[in-house]
Amino acid sequence: MPATLFDKDLRVYGSPSRYIQGQGAIGQVGRLVCDLGHRAIVVSDKLVLDLIGDQLTACLTSSDTAFEVVEFNGNLLQDTASQLKELYVPSVGDVIVACGGGRAIDTGKALAEIVKAPLITIPTVASNDAPTSKNFVLYDTSHRLVEVRHLPKNPDAVIVDTQILARAPKHMFAAGLGDALAKFSEAQACAKAGGVNMFGAAPPRVALAIAQCCEDTLLAHGTSAFDVAGSGVVTEAFDASAEAMILMAGLGFENGGLSIAHALTRGLSLVPGAKEAPHGYQVAYGLCVQHMVAESPVPEAKLDLMRHVGLPVTLAELCGRPITQGDYEVIAQATSNVQHLKNFPAEVSARQLIDAMQSTEALFSKTPENELG
Ligand SMILES: [Zn+2]
Repeated sequence: MPATLFDKDLRVYGSPSRYIQGQGAIGQVGRLVCDLGHRAIVVSDKLVLDLIGDQLTACLTSSDTAFEVVEFNGNLLQDTASQLKELYVPSVGDVIVACGGGRAIDTGKALAEIVKAPLITIPTVASNDAPTSKNFVLYDTSHRLVEVRHLPKNPDAVIVDTQILARAPKHMFAAGLGDALAKFSEAQACAKAGGVNMFGAAPPRVALAIAQCCEDTLLAHGTSAFDVAGSGVVTEAFDASAEAMILMAGLGFENGGLSIAHALTRGLSLVPGAKEAPHGYQVAYGLCVQHMVAESPVPEAKLDLMRHVGLPVTLAELCGRPITQGDYEVIAQATSNVQHLKNFPAEVSARQLIDAMQSTEALFSKTPENELG
């Protein structure tokens, strides 16, 4: 058991120390670095640096904050962090500033772990809730997920500049929605099962309330937020959705626990089509399967939102190709050993997962017959 995990008979809550969201929020970065140390080590990839590198360095310079930029190639392998550490001389007072999409944020976490420095995350897309969480994932050279690691604590500060997020591609916003929309159902399943959260402990009651607020916010604002996503315009709906997708979803899963929807991503990352899809697309499909296993239909409003933003509700949609029996078997087999599966009120076998995936396909497939109905 990692040292950061607690006992199941305790309730444990964790979160970032500071969360700052708004248009131009990136301007706070210098102040936050100085609160936590002396020098910013900016971890980012070329794509992100081309987009906001000048803005970020101008913010640091204007607040007289020393910084170094450590660029990585966009892949997070098991040895990436130690290679990055070779690119600068670590010193007392360093603060890691991880800036970019999920991989850049996770790379910053991996570096913060080995140099034991405070961490500030600055997401540039609202595609997932990695910026708030203490977990990060490592991949092998074939892009297969090999390890989920836990930092001793959550990031010290999260800066969500909605002006930057509003320029990010629409499909990444949809991915963030897919990831976030599963959190309440998963936290509910975990609570009913007496399961454990990401601290290895019992979920505190507030976790369920946060996950519910996440879902309610997205059901109220997700459609209109998606419609402006990518335009650079920040509406009230966009601002609310960004908070739900990054802050509430992150706190909701880490404190409330994950269940079938996220367990399935282990299996889905093994099959062609699904493995290349964004995490949030995998989770959206996983949510449909979780509802099927629970024998409770996906609420109509949720389904409408998922369809509006183009999230997949069948495996064929997720993979972009016809599905074989072998696909179901590979997914179910790899999923059946995942710890999150225990956060469900009943035991779930590989056979049940296969049945649920097949039933989901039959229910939501766009056959001429179904379309007439
Ligand atoms: Zn997720």
